[in-house]
Amino acid sequence: MTSALDRIKAVVGERGVIADPGEMTPYMLDERREWPAGKALAVVRPGSVEEVSQVVAICNETRTAIVPQGGNTGLVGGSTPHTKGDEIVLSLKRMNRVRDLDPLNYTITCDAGVILADVQKAAAEADRLFPLSLGGEGTAVIGGNVSTNAGGTGVLRYGNARELVLGIEVVLPDGRIWDGLSRLRKDNTGYDLKHLFIGAEGTLGIVTGVVLKLFPKPRDIQTAFLAVRDPSAALELLALARAATDDRVTAFEWIPRLGLDYVLKNIPDTRHPLPDNPYDHYVLIELTSAHDDGVLRERLEAVLAEGMEKGLVLDGAIAASRAQGRAFWKLRETIPEAQKPEGSSIRHDVSVPVSKVPEFLNKADAVVKKAVPGIRVCSFGHLGDGNVHYNLTQPIGADSAAYAARHEEINHLVYEVALALRGSISAEHGIGRQKRELLPEVKSPVALAMMRQIKKTLDPNNIMNPGKLL
Ligand code: FAD
Ligand code: ZN
Repeated sequence: MTSALDRIKAVVGERGVIADPGEMTPYMLDERREWPAGKALAVVRPGSVEEVSQVVAICNETRTAIVPQGGNTGLVGGSTPHTKGDEIVLSLKRMNRVRDLDPLNYTITCDAGVILADVQKAAAEADRLFPLSLGGEGTAVIGGNVSTNAGGTGVLRYGNARELVLGIEVVLPDGRIWDGLSRLRKDNTGYDLKHLFIGAEGTLGIVTGVVLKLFPKPRDIQTAFLAVRDPSAALELLALARAATDDRVTAFEWIPRLGLDYVLKNIPDTRHPLPDNPYDHYVLIELTSAHDDGVLRERLEAVLAEGMEKGLVLDGAIAASRAQGRAFWKLRETIPEAQKPEGSSIRHDVSVPVSKVPEFLNKADAVVKKAVPGIRVCSFGHLGDGNVHYNLTQPIGADSAAYAARHEEINHLVYEVALALRGSISAEHGIGRQKRELLPEVKSPVALAMMRQIKKTLDPNNIMNPGKLL
């Protein structure tokens, strides 16, 4: 009898299959190296939707599990296989064509394997903006972004991946192709099925194509780095800025003093925008407008003046050029990297209602400091979305491994505070393998039952990314 792999090879050809263990390695390792290297029967790289469909049908028939993989930048162990070696990794990276760009409809239609930065670039070349933006955008692909419902730094103004998808094409676990590539802004014809696959982390089918919303390209970008009194003051300032600029705030990112200290110490070519006085709390605010008429800058200055008068803003610098704006962004974006030399970190990707962030920070800081005296709280991130990357560096001089071994206990303390404020244990990174055990603790039995029922209906043989999410 011909093996599943031989049949798959007959579909995708020799160049569509990697079976050499050495060549497979990059597909087996997760971004943060938090999981043991996976094993797989092969990495399968189809070149078309029809090929994906035939491969999935073979897998369904032979009960061969599939791990869909895009750029493999996911942070929860969802995109790499387990260690048993009986799964295939299905990489979408060969499917990397922009299928269509419709400037008047403000849409772009892409294969799942188009790199996020290339989607942005194609939009920009057509004088449009695709606003999804995140640290891994040079490697992550749009199918992965949609499958994780990625967030990033533009959510405040434009929403997360889910809100940017108009249509989707999916290969279902039995191999059928669902062409849901709608380019419609309005379509009320029953259940909106695309949302099932957005954020499903590859457990319900394989996303092979997407229609994405575009926006007018910004002509004016104003970026400021501000010292604020405290997190509450930061939120008051955000409300002021939104109202005063017709909601043109695109990003509102939180940078604590400790995070900035790490960056200035550990990342080359960085400098403090406000070197004269140390402050405890900083925010990076960015406003964008499609008009380059100087109005945005005037409004920003007025907001800062009002913020200072009210005691919300203590000091600040507005970027004088795009280069300086990018230098401000570097201070925010390199915090995770800058944390590494400081020892072991216990990380959290939590969200609470925006107005509750100060309460979350106060309460969480208190419990973790009580549990681990000397712990260094380096929480930073998307304050405007109520999403903080609540990262905790080990105490100076502590035993790194002993500290890391306490992660479950610390996770629990942090999650308890977030959940009491009706927050989430995973704001943007997903569940994957990392938080799978926790899901039953945070989802209501009714919600969990619905999720399991949907999974069973669409994937009765449990071939799609088993052991992830559910
Ligand atoms: P992968 O890692 O390959 O896959 C992610 C999940 O989706 C897996 O479960 C996989 O099985 C599934 N999947 C992938 N492709 C498909 C498909 N075509 N069909 C079905 N399932 C599929 N995330 C944020 O939300 N916000 C951030 O700000 C952010 N910043 C990041 C910064 C860095 C430096 C890095 C490395 C990651 C960051 N992330 C962030 C994590 C984020 O989830 C991923 O970067 C990205 O969205 C995943 O895309 P990917 O193509 O790498 O997907
Ligand atoms: Zn983030």
